[in-house]
Amino acid sequence: MHRVVEKPEGQYDVAILGGGFAGAAASRRLTQAGLRVLIIEARDRLAGRMWTQEQFFDGHAVEWGGAFMLDRLSYPLTWKEIDAHGLALDWGSLEPTKLIWLSAGERRVGPMPVPLDELASFERLILHLSALASRIDPHRPIEEQDVSELDVTWPTLIEGLALGPHTRELFAAHIVTLAGDPWDVPSALPLLHTIAKSGSVSAATFFAAPYDTPMARTLGPQLADGTGALHAAVMSGSDAEVLLGVKVTAVEDAGESVRVQTTAGDVTVGSVVCALPIGVLSNVSFTPELSPELQSLAGQGVAAQAEKVTMFVSNCPEPFYAHGIPEGGGFATASTTFHEGDRAIVVGFTSEAGVLDINDTAAVERSLQQYVPGIKVEAVAWHDWAGDEFARGTWSYLRPGQTAVRPKARQARGRVTFAGSDFDARLGVEGALHTGGLAAEEVLGILGR
Ligand SMILES: Cc1cc2nc3c(=O)[nH]c(=O)nc-3n(C[C@H](O)[C@H](O)[C@H](O)COP(=O)(O)OP(=O)(O)OC[C@H]3O[C@@H](n4cnc5c(N)ncnc54)[C@H](O)[C@@H]3O)c2cc1C
Repeated sequence: MHRVVEKPEGQYDVAILGGGFAGAAASRRLTQAGLRVLIIEARDRLAGRMWTQEQFFDGHAVEWGGAFMLDRLSYPLTWKEIDAHGLALDWGSLEPTKLIWLSAGERRVGPMPVPLDELASFERLILHLSALASRIDPHRPIEEQDVSELDVTWPTLIEGLALGPHTRELFAAHIVTLAGDPWDVPSALPLLHTIAKSGSVSAATFFAAPYDTPMARTLGPQLADGTGALHAAVMSGSDAEVLLGVKVTAVEDAGESVRVQTTAGDVTVGSVVCALPIGVLSNVSFTPELSPELQSLAGQGVAAQAEKVTMFVSNCPEPFYAHGIPEGGGFATASTTFHEGDRAIVVGFTSEAGVLDINDTAAVERSLQQYVPGIKVEAVAWHDWAGDEFARGTWSYLRPGQTAVRPKARQARGRVTFAGSDFDARLGVEGALHTGGLAAEEVLGILGR
């Protein structure tokens, strides 16, 4: 069983920098191989960008960061943990859901995303997406395929389609929700890859009008006991010692060993797993310096910067799923994840970072009212991940050109290996678990175990 220590106690084989899911997975594999492992975590808690807080409002928990477990095909390692540890799922409300669309200044309710006179435009978009995705082999790693012509932003790919304003705005809102940034920032490749894997445009997009459990249908379920339970499940197999509230400042590979400098003193180990978000790597000094590929990724950081906002609301008679670009900016997607009577929990993703003053509950309420007139916001929970010095961004969505660079960027340098969802096309917790496992195997090779 892992344990928190006040300071390093004696000699360690491996230091793991960062106690998110990547660090947890690496620590489990390495301690099970008989190595002595120290996890060094800057925050006063583990789990990084997935963070459950129990009893936040009215008895309900809040997930400040990642929460949704994608489908089994996309998240095999995650589901293995969920099944093995018997973690309960939360699929949301099973009542019929009201679908609300907001585009070109018009609010519509019903299963059709666009007005009837844009049906042909909508169809053109779907057919185009399907044709683009058919160039991707779903069974081969995306990094090994020559699909650089798809590794561009969305406006470039849909130029000339003459989409109607509603189709264009709703698709832009869709990309913003997936990528956490305006649609001219992220690469088109991740969504096209998802479409190729699922074999259906509507199954891979929000346009599969989610009649039943909106977020769960499109993003996957949440965990009934929170993502904290998943992290605890992974850590239950780890015997690592854990330093909390200690920041890593430098990593110096001396050839025979690695010296890790921290705010609580130095530790010398045989090998290191650096499981920090790429956006914070430039705060740590590396000797020898990081590979050019990793320096370039670290300089750019993850694309996703927009905010996830959890709202505890009343005067909400039906569960709803709302999608669009509100006038003046606001929520690109907002959906009930819990509903009872006229009270609900709504999870929203903003249409652009900073577009809404989230600390102003009245402003948040006005923005939500564009979708659901009369709804009342009682409490708001959000965390500024983009401003957080230990995260500098939210989820690991790719910019154009990053897909090809990421495998090289993750390559071990001497005795230092790299892990974290930001290095992996699998995104989210799955990418963290996957790369944590890869880095642990690399460490075993470095140490000759
Ligand atoms: C708002 C939001 C919504 C998301 N939604 C989803 C979702 O629905 N589904 C999904 O699968 N994923 C989602 N994600 C992404 C998911 O949370 C991350 O991909 C995953 O948690 C990353 O794990 P990691 O171990 O790679 O990195 P992290 O969790 O970031 O772990 C890195 C650790 O390093 C620590 N650290 C940083 N700097 C230092 C330092 N100098 N010294 C020591 N420690 C340091 C950090 O504190 C952190 O604990 C979301 C993320 C956010 C923020």
